[in-house]
Amino acid sequence: MFDTHELGRRPGALQRLSRTVDAPKDFGIADVIGVPQGAPVELDLRLESVMEGVLVTGTARASAEGECVRCLEPLRHEVAADFQELFTYPDADDRGRTAEPVDGEEDEDRLFLEDGMFDLEPVLRDAVVLALPMQPVCRETCAGLCPDCGIRLDENPDHHHDAVDIRWAALQGLAETIQDGEKDNMGGAEVGVDEKQEK
Ligand SMILES: [Zn+2]
Ligand SMILES: [Zn+2]
Repeated sequence: MFDTHELGRRPGALQRLSRTVDAPKDFGIADVIGVPQGAPVELDLRLESVMEGVLVTGTARASAEGECVRCLEPLRHEVAADFQELFTYPDADDRGRTAEPVDGEEDEDRLFLEDGMFDLEPVLRDAVVLALPMQPVCRETCAGLCPDCGIRLDENPDHHHDAVDIRWAALQGLAETIQDGEKDNMGGAEVGVDEKQEK
């Protein structure tokens, strides 16, 4: 909660403030990336008194954690989210309504000052979620994982498999085993293809 009493209600009055707050719960994109609960969120705010209320403009900076969608390695993402929101005086509601275009949705989305206090949390959450990547990657060039064996390709740049797919080779091996049945049981040991890597 932020206090606007110091700012006062005289239109045009300005107040700048910087504050560090603890990140609230679910501050990010669920199961993808987010700012851990309790992690510091640095706020730079500019409060401006206007006729209908207080216009809040600011930037939030925090460090989000998630994992790379390609290689699944943990990653950190420094997020800087800009936002602007008008908090309306409850008693200025009628005046505000005539001044703004009549729009039912806008009324529902409107945020109010309560006893000169405003709650920035929903505004911050929206701004941070918007600023976070939906598909975070550890780096733009991340090659991800080998689709066949899951090895991390960035750490194994020469990694590849021989043209014959392992699973197909296994089927072929099985078929051969069935064909010459009198052959000694070769088990699964012989079904693997030659994994030698070519440079
Ligand atoms: Zn990655
Ligand atoms: Zn592989």
